[in-house]
Amino acid sequence: MKRCLLELVVVLGGALCPFAQTQPAADLIIQNARIWTVDSALPEGEAVAVLGDRIVAVGSNQQVAAWRGPHTHIVDAGGKRLLPGFNDAHVHFSDGGAQLDNVELNDATSAQEFARRIRERAAKTAKGDWLLGGDWDETKWSPAELPTKELIDAATPGTPVAVNRYDGHMVLANSLALKLAGITAQTPDPAGGVIVRDRQGNPTGALKDAAQDILFKAVPALTHDQRRHAIERALGHAASLGVTSVQNMDPDYADIAIYSELLDEGRLTTRIYAAPLITQVDDQVRIGIRRAFGGPYLRIGGVKAFADGSLGSATAYFFEPFLDQPGNRGLLSDGMQPISLMRDHMMRGDAAGLQLCTHAIGDAGISAILDLYAEIEKQHGSRDRRWRIEHAQHMAAKDFDRFAELHVIASVQPYHAIDDGRWAERRIGHDRATRTYAFRTFLNHGVRLALGTDWNVAPLNPMLTLYAATTRATLDGKNPNGWFPEQKLTIKEAIEAYTMGSAYAEFQEHEKGSITAGKLADMVLLSDDVLSIDPAKIRDVKVLQTWVGGKLTYDVDMAAR
Ligand SMILES: [Zn+2]
Repeated sequence: MKRCLLELVVVLGGALCPFAQTQPAADLIIQNARIWTVDSALPEGEAVAVLGDRIVAVGSNQQVAAWRGPHTHIVDAGGKRLLPGFNDAHVHFSDGGAQLDNVELNDATSAQEFARRIRERAAKTAKGDWLLGGDWDETKWSPAELPTKELIDAATPGTPVAVNRYDGHMVLANSLALKLAGITAQTPDPAGGVIVRDRQGNPTGALKDAAQDILFKAVPALTHDQRRHAIERALGHAASLGVTSVQNMDPDYADIAIYSELLDEGRLTTRIYAAPLITQVDDQVRIGIRRAFGGPYLRIGGVKAFADGSLGSATAYFFEPFLDQPGNRGLLSDGMQPISLMRDHMMRGDAAGLQLCTHAIGDAGISAILDLYAEIEKQHGSRDRRWRIEHAQHMAAKDFDRFAELHVIASVQPYHAIDDGRWAERRIGHDRATRTYAFRTFLNHGVRLALGTDWNVAPLNPMLTLYAATTRATLDGKNPNGWFPEQKLTIKEAIEAYTMGSAYAEFQEHEKGSITAGKLADMVLLSDDVLSIDPAKIRDVKVLQTWVGGKLTYDVDMAAR
């Protein structure tokens, strides 16, 4: 109806339509808000009007009131802060949704507590069903030692257990799970992976990086209904946190099938850009998909590669060994062994116009990926590719300039900084730590940032990310003024990187990322003004309402009922 009116106005120049003297009415007006638009052409406003799924006006209450009609829904924001919806540039969406229902081990503060929670969950789990998830973090225990299967074997005789470390680079299996996966003292370490062993050479149950795959092959895949349930949980969680877009790294194809199904039913309430694993690059190449192919709710066209492991699992790939593990400088991923394997995958993806998003954490891992990106540019010529390095945690001093020259986007997760900051210096020393989570140094070199969380590795809550980026106050409370405070972002820089920066990283900066007339109406209303409060209080800020394409996807009052 509204569209018809709009067309009439255009086509007939107002001559025949009775309403044509006035402009079409908005479906939604949010007024009395404190808007920071993240659009430098018009940075602030009090009100915004939405027609269909687009913003049509931003300005003062009075200016926007011109869009009011008899059926316009009016929201009084009560002077609260309105921002563009957050776009999380790096999530594992179905894993995150599944984890909302899995055993929670991340905040277990001792090995005993870890074991107790697994025992309790196993008692409630049907015999033979796998006990999964967990997100455990042994650095919160004292002593901070890796768990072993002996901790949980006695309590889980009939339940195979495969609980992951929170970073996803290590899993602990119990004896039954090892048996089902056929992992024994005789099983060799796979390329890019480690089976942790005791002095006699027997597996302890901990499996690092590529060694996890041997175990996960034995875990039955989620059924369609289980996967759909996990994704629906994830969508609800995202809406409640003001996350209106996510960039889904290495989803299963089955996840994309569920997104597509939900989209068809009008139930996809978070916009998704999916980047499947680069090992599957030929699938997208064959179809002829290019970067950011799709519609406003669902896009594909990226590929996700892995250069190395993680700092916490001591598998991030460095030029120099870890201080606390002198013989070890990390691992290149199995996809990088040999490097020509990765080069070949990347060249094929790039030639087809796909976007490359590469996980690289250690300085040598990042350097190796920059080498590959430079080779591709040399061979295929320069164009607007928006290559990404996911995490970009520990930079070699020589690589900041190269990062900028190749126009690589640093897709970073500030929460990891306040988490790893508790212990990172013990592992890599002071000098390397000065170039760790070096957000300010990136900006100084003209590198674009895209912010995200890596959920389920870290919480999806954008307030924790903004808190982390602006305070760099480590979770142990030991750096109240910031761990390497010179790398802090201002709140405006952090929000911009989390909205426009992330939109740019998925080629959508003309569609979303700011509250601008013409763009998709994705917005979030906050309980407190994150732009003016003490940054230490940002983590307590709550979302009041979330809109995606002008539709209310979360309302704190409705959620409380
Ligand atoms: Zn990730």
